[in-house]
Amino acid sequence: MIKIEKTSEVFAGIHKPIISKSLFDKVHDVFNGKNIKKQNRHFFVFRRLIRCQSCGNLLIPERQKGLIYYRCHTRNCQRSTLKEETIDKELLQNFKKLQLTDEEYLFLRQESVKENNNQLSEMETARKGFLLQQDHIKDRLSKLADAYVDGVFDKETYLEKKNALIFEEQAIKERFANFNSNNQEVLKRFDAFLELVNSVYLCYEQAKPEDRRHLVKTVTSNFTAEGKTVLVKLETPFEMVVERQSFTSGSPYREATRTLASLFKKLFIYFKNLDTSKSSDEFINYVTSKTEKKSINNFLKSNH
Ligand SMILES: [Zn+2]
Repeated sequence: MIKIEKTSEVFAGIHKPIISKSLFDKVHDVFNGKNIKKQNRHFFVFRRLIRCQSCGNLLIPERQKGLIYYRCHTRNCQRSTLKEETIDKELLQNFKKLQLTDEEYLFLRQESVKENNNQLSEMETARKGFLLQQDHIKDRLSKLADAYVDGVFDKETYLEKKNALIFEEQAIKERFANFNSNNQEVLKRFDAFLELVNSVYLCYEQAKPEDRRHLVKTVTSNFTAEGKTVLVKLETPFEMVVERQSFTSGSPYREATRTLASLFKKLFIYFKNLDTSKSSDEFINYVTSKTEKKSINNFLKSNH
């Protein structure tokens, strides 16, 4: 209520509104109990993300003369202190290594398309097998019905055998459906990952603090501070991409493509072994909302 008095003060005796429409709307939302985004004044990108190497405690952020510092507050510790700038610099150096050249991006895309085609033909084979098994069960069901009509079994035995076959059919159906959705999920993850890898550097530079935090949490697995330096570890698949660098830069074309092909295989296995029962939609939505979709078709056209 006090807030309302404050705002009405602002308007008192003034004919033109002195607060902007957007600020007015935000205030309005607050009064209506709508959850609006916090302002960035006290938002710390790396809050609760960085541990002190010597004592293992989390560094605590603070603002000092317009700069943000993360400090270890443990007594008798060497008290690591990091400037936010230092962390950003280190991160950007890491993210830079993730950026793919056009050739690399295109090559990995093509590997993904190839793999997709492989999977489509595998799925086709699986579908044929499934139909055969289904026919076989139908056949057995009708033979079973004939035998029942001919008085080979009593009703109870007939129903028991019939149910067993129906359960079997159901199990085959489920196996087939899972097989398909898992394969699709793996490639969906890979494609989203590729988009993220390729844009994380630019995204990080341009993102708002909230988005930067989200990006950091997605891409990094471990942050530690040692004195005034920061050690960053990336999540496994990103680490794999960083490792390619030493092989591909300046290598002859065949060697480079061999390295990339094996990178694709490693990544593919990684995504295949992830728990695909959990949907990665959130991750994919996040990635696609943060990255400008490269038009692959245009890219292909311009390269021919
Ligand atoms: Zn410490």
